[in-house]
Amino acid sequence: MLAQSLEETWSEFLSLMKERCSRVEYANWIAPIKVDLQEDTPTLLVPNVFVREYLLDNYRDELCMFFGTRKKGEPDLQFAVQKQNQEKRQAPVKPRPKVEKVPFEQEMKLNENYTFDHFIEGPSNQFIKSACLGVASKPGKSYNPLFIHGGVGLGKTHLLHAIGHVLRKDHKKLRFQCITTEGFINDLVFHLRNKSVDKMKRYFRNLDVLLVDDIQFLQNRLNFEEEFCNTFETLINQNKQIVITSDKPPGQLKLSERMIARMEWGLVAHIGMPDVETRVAILQHKAEQKGFKLSNHIAFYIAEHIFNNVRQLEGAVNRLGAHCRLMHLEATEEVVDHTLGEMFQSTPQGRVSVDRILTSVSSMFNVSESDLRGAKRSKDIATARQIAMYLAKELIGESLTKIASAFGGKKHSTLLHAWKKVSKEIESNERLRRQIQMTRQNIEA
Ligand code: ADP
Ligand code: MG
Repeated sequence: MLAQSLEETWSEFLSLMKERCSRVEYANWIAPIKVDLQEDTPTLLVPNVFVREYLLDNYRDELCMFFGTRKKGEPDLQFAVQKQNQEKRQAPVKPRPKVEKVPFEQEMKLNENYTFDHFIEGPSNQFIKSACLGVASKPGKSYNPLFIHGGVGLGKTHLLHAIGHVLRKDHKKLRFQCITTEGFINDLVFHLRNKSVDKMKRYFRNLDVLLVDDIQFLQNRLNFEEEFCNTFETLINQNKQIVITSDKPPGQLKLSERMIARMEWGLVAHIGMPDVETRVAILQHKAEQKGFKLSNHIAFYIAEHIFNNVRQLEGAVNRLGAHCRLMHLEATEEVVDHTLGEMFQSTPQGRVSVDRILTSVSSMFNVSESDLRGAKRSKDIATARQIAMYLAKELIGESLTKIASAFGGKKHSTLLHAWKKVSKEIESNERLRRQIQMTRQNIEA
């Protein structure tokens, strides 16, 4: 084909897109595409891989119709992601824009205690801690975006601030902002009221690193979501680092598909409740920070009774420390019962056991308990067994080795594998997620 006719084809394709897409869609996805029609096979220069995926997901047939089809049903086109420096070479170099001074409602405050040194690691958070360390040492070059999800009080904000501390110390030239999603929304409202939204946009879009806490608060806030998504894309397109925390994985957030797809692009990592040994280490570390020592025995005693939330462990240390200091007492089991009794969750014996999980899973998924403990590998049994393992890891705050052995002597790596598999599956399988939710309610009832 001649270059001339390719140009015509391309402009016809654009006309069709204008008809098919909304104005916003066209401006976001189609307009930024540049084309190189010099070769036989046209090359679409896209600003990032999302655009390529978007085109192929939504307009594959149209692309094939206009540009012909290759063997595997792919359009006869090439895609090239236009790198930052490629653009720079073409455009005259502009001076780096100055950072706007924006009157933020909440100035960025990093909690002094939320550093990597004060973050105790164990099997439930090791992986995510090292991902955060990676991001902090090489922002924009390892996992981008990094998405951290997990329940309340498990250390998400701690890790986010820890990244902030490293940036502040080791990357002084980088412009970064650590915000809560609510803070972002409040700022946006403030700037909308003051007709200074452009200023805010400029500020955010010129950052090198954006750390966003609790993205779940963006749910059901459509207009804010769109603004946030635009900021997100602008930054990611320039290889600027983004880290996001949330109480749920991206797929379970009530956000637009576009937003979810962006957040799933990099690394999505879960942070779970630390096992009992890690809880002991956390208690002892927190006690040391407060200037008193907690014996192993007492730390274990507390860790066995508080197993849902690290924040509560911290509260327990504070309360016990204050009580012992004021009353000049040693921390004994008796003193602990007296001061922390009401914080204790039901005793370990009364808590969820593997037996109880197997009973519930067995009735929900119609598989016998002995099969769940056994080694049969038929699909139904294997899936139900993995679900039981998933629930056991979620609901029992014991070490993985101990839980796994209660499944007829399985290894802890088997349990971890099952947990990962089910966690991934329920991100997209709504039916399974509901079944597991019901089983869980049954177990916890
Ligand atoms: P989240 O944001 O997940 O709700 P936070 O980051 O606010 O939880 O953590 C709650 C408290 O627990 C904080 O004081 C934090 O320092 C502490 N914490 C959580 N995980 C750890 C950990 N692994 N090591 C030390 N402290 C932790
Ligand atoms: Mg938090």
